[in-house]
Amino acid sequence: MSKLQETLEGFRTKALKIKTGSTKVHNRNKEVATSKSEVEKRLNSILPKTDQKFFEAISSHFTLFERYLHFSSTPSAFKKAWDLRSEQLLLRDADEIVSHGAQLIPTTKGSGIFEFNMKGLILSPMYDGFLLGVRHSEGNYDDQLDDLGRFTYQPPEDLLGMLRYRFFEYLTSELKIPYILFVTMWFDLNNSVDIKYKDKLPTETNWVFVVCPVKVISNNEPGLNINAPLNLQLITRKEASDIIAQYKGLSSTKLVLKFRPELRQSLAAEFSYEHVKSSKKGKAIKEWSQENGKKCPGCTVSFDKFKLSDLTFGHIISQDWGGSFNFLNDKIHDPDNLYLTCRSCNSALNKYFPDRELQSKIASPFHGTIGDWIRDYEVSIRNRF
Ligand SMILES: [Zn+2]
Repeated sequence: MSKLQETLEGFRTKALKIKTGSTKVHNRNKEVATSKSEVEKRLNSILPKTDQKFFEAISSHFTLFERYLHFSSTPSAFKKAWDLRSEQLLLRDADEIVSHGAQLIPTTKGSGIFEFNMKGLILSPMYDGFLLGVRHSEGNYDDQLDDLGRFTYQPPEDLLGMLRYRFFEYLTSELKIPYILFVTMWFDLNNSVDIKYKDKLPTETNWVFVVCPVKVISNNEPGLNINAPLNLQLITRKEASDIIAQYKGLSSTKLVLKFRPELRQSLAAEFSYEHVKSSKKGKAIKEWSQENGKKCPGCTVSFDKFKLSDLTFGHIISQDWGGSFNFLNDKIHDPDNLYLTCRSCNSALNKYFPDRELQSKIASPFHGTIGDWIRDYEVSIRNRF
């Protein structure tokens, strides 16, 4: 079964463990009926029927998402905007947040994301199960945005919406790729102009928007805490586009292996395991990976969170196998059999091969073998030693 299929079925099983009865809606004198059959009905409308359909939904949704990414502000600028705690944007406030990297986006009809709307949730036009974003307005459910850019977003008031939140959390923990969306805020620029000019000014700039990507960081059991809020954290455009690359790299059925031409012999020898394992060259590769946002394919923690000595070169086909099967012997240390990993993920493998999930991560353009890095970035790696 593919990972995507497993995820769909896993979520269905968990969500159907719900107790029959009702759940309270936050801040409201309102209850939502919960029962297996109610949940089942909603699941049928948010979960794609097959893993192939799921993959298509992911691809189309994130293709749209990527488009809006270019209009995003930095997390620190978004925080500045949040901390204004006012819908009215004075010119000096606008100056302040723009100088911190905020982008003020005028109203764009039909975009959903850059349109004034009192509803909090922005549905994905590509796929019902996904949200494109959430709107924050001052005085909402939870007004606190901490220094790490984390905040709590209010739960929806219907069962379908609640299940969607839990689905995002489940995707995050099962696929080990955080679900991302946008948080948007709107501001009224009218206050800063003289009333007598108002009619002459373009209406698109009456309301302006500041958006930033966020990732899901909470994890609730769908059957137990169906009505829990969603915890989110602001992220950079770079992190969001890395995450999208990972989502797009999930294939629905099987791993599609990229064709890799053999490395030039001199290059293969120069970057073989013996030459990189504890040398200036190896150090240069590790530093390069840290500067270029690469992550451990095992635990997905950024390499720049590790000390250099905690990074090591792992073998796809293990050294022990190379020793045991002599025909592998002259290829076992080839850069295409090597990948950068953190020490603890590497020692967890012992003398065995990476599992299917890890293999597909290593082979994906997002991670890559050492051979892939040399093919694509030889000059910038060489510049480091
Ligand atoms: Zn690791």
